[in-house]
Amino acid sequence: MSLADKTIGFIGAGAMAEAILAGLLSSDLTKPEKVFISDVDFTRRDYVKTRFSVNVAQNNTDLVKRSDIVVLAVKPFILQDVLTEIAGSVQTDQLMVSIAAGLSTGYISSFFKSRVPVIRVMPNTPSLVGEGASALAAGEFAGEEHLALALELFNSVGRAYAVSEQAMDAVTGLSGSGPAYMYLIIEAMADAGVKAGLPRKIALELSAQTMLGAAKMVLETGEHPAVLKDKVTTPGGTTIAGLHTLEQGKIRATIMDAVIAAVQKSKELG
Ligand code: NAD
Repeated sequence: MSLADKTIGFIGAGAMAEAILAGLLSSDLTKPEKVFISDVDFTRRDYVKTRFSVNVAQNNTDLVKRSDIVVLAVKPFILQDVLTEIAGSVQTDQLMVSIAAGLSTGYISSFFKSRVPVIRVMPNTPSLVGEGASALAAGEFAGEEHLALALELFNSVGRAYAVSEQAMDAVTGLSGSGPAYMYLIIEAMADAGVKAGLPRKIALELSAQTMLGAAKMVLETGEHPAVLKDKVTTPGGTTIAGLHTLEQGKIRATIMDAVIAAVQKSKELG
């Protein structure tokens, strides 16, 4: 069973749905004629329809009737209304995939009378440029085949991993909030470049490209970051001088504390 055999519907055609559609259709995992969208904002709906040549459903219930996989891509505070609206139309041979932050598979399942498979996903904003980091958790009634379909979907906008639902708070603190931590580091390095005399635009691009390159080195060489760090650290050179200053500033403990603070916050909000 693969995505190519399925019809996929998106309830909510916002930024995240658009990102997933872009990845999905450019990777040829499905064809526009197998995709349906619905959105209460008709301007938004028509823009997404025109961009991807996908089908428009009359409303959310109509979309559910036409889709094997339903991606719930509305804001979390809207989801309750949407689930109430569609609950009576959802069948057990369909798959519900929710990207709403903080809402458990148990919460979503509670709207359905029958054993509808539900998968919850925590994507992050770089999905919008095809470099997302997503974690997926299967609900009580979702099996391996459902997880495989959802992984296929989210691997089309970056890298996707299956985790247990208890791990969702950890994911939220790490990859969910993580892009903001990286932006801060990119900005700080660019500021330093400007202080040292570089033009702002060049400093910012050098900084961002350095982070992109370092991330690719870790992912593509498979080498441990400590090994890669050691390889670029000449005895008595510039890099070890910089690293020493970072260690004096307790950067490792600070970053760990930041992630743990976000994990805690996610637990409190959940
Ligand atoms: P968005 O506001 O861009 O899109 C939501 C869309 O839902 C809008 O176009 C809106 O008109 C539509 N909508 C509202 N009520 C509706 C209804 N009753 N029926 C159908 N459509 C309706 O939001 P987004 O950024 O795409 O986020 C969608 C979900 O993804 C959220 O639950 C959010 O928590 C999650 N998420 C987003 C990001 C991100 O990077 N944007 C990251 C992680 C998780």
